[in-house]
Amino acid sequence: MKLLEGKNVIITGASRGIGKGIAKVFGEHGANVAFTYSSSEAPALELEKELEAMGVKAKAYKSNAASFSESEALIANVLEEFGSIDVLINNAGITKDNLLMRMGESDFDTVIEINLKSVFNMTKAVQRTMLKQRKGSIVNMSSVVGVKGNAGQTNYAASKAGMIGFTKSVALELGSRNIRCNAIAPGFIETEMTDKLDEKTVQGWRDAIPLKRGGSPEDVANACLFLASDMSAYVTGQVLNVDGGMLT
Ligand code: NAP
Repeated sequence: MKLLEGKNVIITGASRGIGKGIAKVFGEHGANVAFTYSSSEAPALELEKELEAMGVKAKAYKSNAASFSESEALIANVLEEFGSIDVLINNAGITKDNLLMRMGESDFDTVIEINLKSVFNMTKAVQRTMLKQRKGSIVNMSSVVGVKGNAGQTNYAASKAGMIGFTKSVALELGSRNIRCNAIAPGFIETEMTDKLDEKTVQGWRDAIPLKRGGSPEDVANACLFLASDMSAYVTGQVLNVDGGMLT
């Protein structure tokens, strides 16, 4: 059963990692996929081809999610090309880790702008079309770190916790128009973002997880599929942990 047949979705930051995993699972479920990247053009164009081979419409857009004006222009372009937007996945994110003592102002600001302000930019840009169609699903990629905090990630944890407050507020504001907004809090998902960590740290994370393994982009994508589709028609304002039991 294809859960997103004919739906138009937009995913930020899908040139690799979790975003790419979401794009592929959504494509397999019949969704037309517009997605963004910030600099990885070649892998983005490759993904576009991979999705088209699944028989769905796909288009990669270079767009900085931290920019309000670029996000507005992006949504206008996607609407022109795809006609409507049923699902928005705010996935783009970065880390710039350091202890608070050593963290510079720009490392704080950049992480907040790319991880959190982007969610405001994209949600605001997409809300008019979802309000008009009186239907929509928005999924924000938070993190377990936004729920429990993490030493060395004050900037990242603040951005991810902010996304949860934003998610719950949007769910309250737009629920009466049948627009749902939920967050996913992934735990340790093995992607290029976590490739930056040394092997000892990685093994430490794996050992601390009840399911004894890091998650895959597909693990997160499947949860995202549930929240994007009508399978979760009565679910809004929630944070779904996809963490192998890490926060249990
Ligand atoms: P990743 O492999 O580093 O990929 C990040 C994606 O975001 C890339 O497609 C990148 O595009 C894009 N991006 C970065 N800055 C952008 C910007 N300003 N505008 C538009 N796109 C931008 O990361 P990931 O591990 O897949 O993580 C995806 C999301 O899940 C992030 O929000 C992250 O915080 C969250 N998350 C990850 C984990 C984990 O363990 N991996 C855990 C919890 C939450 P380019 O390739 O062009 O740079």
